[in-house]
Amino acid sequence: MKMDIRIERTQAPKEKPGKGADLPFGHIFTDHMLMVDYDKENGWHDARIVPFGPILMHPGSTIFHYGAGAFEGLKAYRKPDGSCQLFRPQENAKRMEKSIDRLCLPHMDADTILYLIESFVEFEQDWVPSEFGTSLYIRPFCFGCDEPIGLHGIQKAKFMIITCPVGNYYKEGLKPVKITIEEKDVRAVIGGTGDCKVGGNYAASNRAEHEAEVNGFTQVLWLDGVHRKYIEEVGSMNVMFKINGEVITPKLTGSVLPGITRKSAIAYLETMGYKVNERLVSAEEIVEAVKNGTLEEAWGTGTAAVVSPIGVLHYEGVDYKINNNEIGPVCQELYNGLTGIQWGRTEDKFGWTVPVPAPAK
Ligand SMILES: *Cc1c(COP(=O)(O)O)cnc(C)c1O
Repeated sequence: MKMDIRIERTQAPKEKPGKGADLPFGHIFTDHMLMVDYDKENGWHDARIVPFGPILMHPGSTIFHYGAGAFEGLKAYRKPDGSCQLFRPQENAKRMEKSIDRLCLPHMDADTILYLIESFVEFEQDWVPSEFGTSLYIRPFCFGCDEPIGLHGIQKAKFMIITCPVGNYYKEGLKPVKITIEEKDVRAVIGGTGDCKVGGNYAASNRAEHEAEVNGFTQVLWLDGVHRKYIEEVGSMNVMFKINGEVITPKLTGSVLPGITRKSAIAYLETMGYKVNERLVSAEEIVEAVKNGTLEEAWGTGTAAVVSPIGVLHYEGVDYKINNNEIGPVCQELYNGLTGIQWGRTEDKFGWTVPVPAPAK
């Protein structure tokens, strides 16, 4: 659905980072942001692109007290010909519609979400950096703003988009990460919100992620919340294992986030001759496969890193080295394949990319 979007341009445009600039993830914001308001009388209304800056919030707002907030993460990429494109933004829009509905935030349909994302990126496209591996990270989010501190249906909300130019996740090539299997805390359970992109999932993850970091690990690998047995996903990535020539990934049970990179990797691996087996995978099975030498590769998948090889897996006090702590050939080929399509270096045979219209002259 096409909403009218009002535009208020900044009077103080910032200097854009130049070629080779350091672009740490999420630190630099573009000149504008998009906002849409919701209230009972008017529904979603007053879509507007305004100068980037702080927003005024009532201290009673639902988001502060009860965590009614959903978000998405996707990127705009600059192609060698200078034009920009998005990667499967319809998928992000669909997932955000689902997350918003799960939290009983005011419904916004996926077509509207997609329209807002595409419109904002088209407006802000000069901020998409041009070097391979760099991109414009797009963060749509939606949250409840009701002022009475009672528990009740949400009657006021905002939808926003902010964007950040971000650098190459791998400045020195794909480096394997150290991951620890969490045995105490759980991230999500079936029936909860684990399959939606909502802030609360991350709040529940904070303690384990923090402890992992203190102990020298990059992220946590979560086990299922009921049996504490089956592997679900890594912090902000889905996970894949290559055992004895077969690629295996935990199936989407309802407590795992259905990653768009995961879905794309499954399709891409198929063209490489691997039929990915989506099933329950226990931590025991993985440890056993390391011990008997059949675990060939392991990697995470997600928008930020695309793929991230796992070099060390820690479980019950023991470090298990995978593929001699080196990136494996399948992971490398998958990375080359997906990034080639995203940055417009190779032909997109899947129809995944969506061009951003050139700026109006
Ligand atoms: C966003 C996210 C992922 C990865 O999803 P992509 O769509 O591939 O970026 C995986 N796990 C969690 C918990 C996430 O929030």
